[in-house]
Amino acid sequence: MSDWTVEDLGNSVFLFRWPSGFYVSLFVVTNEGVVAVDPINAAAARAYRAAIARVTDAPIAAIIYSHDHRDHIVGASELAPDAEILAHPRALERITTRRDADIAVPTRLVQDEDDLRFGRHRIGVRYFGPNHSQSNIGLLVETDGGTLLSFCDLVEPGLAPYRNLPDTDFAGLRHTLDRCIELGVDLVLGGHAGPDRANWLVWNRDFYRDLLDAVKRAYAASGGQEPLPGEDGVAMTERVRLAVCNAAADALRPTYGAWRGFDAWAPQTADRVLSYLITGN
Ligand SMILES: [Zn+2]
Repeated sequence: MSDWTVEDLGNSVFLFRWPSGFYVSLFVVTNEGVVAVDPINAAAARAYRAAIARVTDAPIAAIIYSHDHRDHIVGASELAPDAEILAHPRALERITTRRDADIAVPTRLVQDEDDLRFGRHRIGVRYFGPNHSQSNIGLLVETDGGTLLSFCDLVEPGLAPYRNLPDTDFAGLRHTLDRCIELGVDLVLGGHAGPDRANWLVWNRDFYRDLLDAVKRAYAASGGQEPLPGEDGVAMTERVRLAVCNAAADALRPTYGAWRGFDAWAPQTADRVLSYLITGN
């Protein structure tokens, strides 16, 4: 039994789902070959290749890296060793700096407003600055359900934002969500969940706004950093942070508590937002 599925979104746009690894990637079958987003990892890429072969004999002509994070872009050599690899310049920069031996280096750089043409198919590229990583790009494709925005790890429909927002520019993330909302798309897809209604962009924007407000309020109410008798600086800091994060998560629970992962991740995401409040980054 295979541990992957393919979903047809119409207009030759498909999703490769790899539930055992909790991933989803988009691919488009064009008359200039298949364009596949994110190989994920070596094992997933082998399944991905089989999934693509189920719907077309066309070669995989291009791979697009959504962003530079290792958990999405290892395995291009398994997926299609000869494909060109498209990514944002900052992804190339990061991959090169890290010297990741298992990540194929991008061969073609893309940027905001690029309109990639593969036969009759078009894939729009959007980059609104740093958000989740410095290099994360949104991809616009037409499906039978309307215009879909694929923006890996930026918005994961149905899921609470992941833990402590790894490698995220918090202000840039909020800016990017605002810009995505202006696109007026019909559907959104992440790298782990979706597609679903574009309202998830608005709900994520509101989540971060409400979380920032809640953390601010809870931090102000905590009375700042006053040690209890016998408490050292480390213990004091940890006590205050924990109280602030739990209070902020409690404040958001009535509105967002049904999102999957909320209880596990919201306090940690509040902790990340508290760092943003304290440092400005
Ligand atoms: Zn990521």
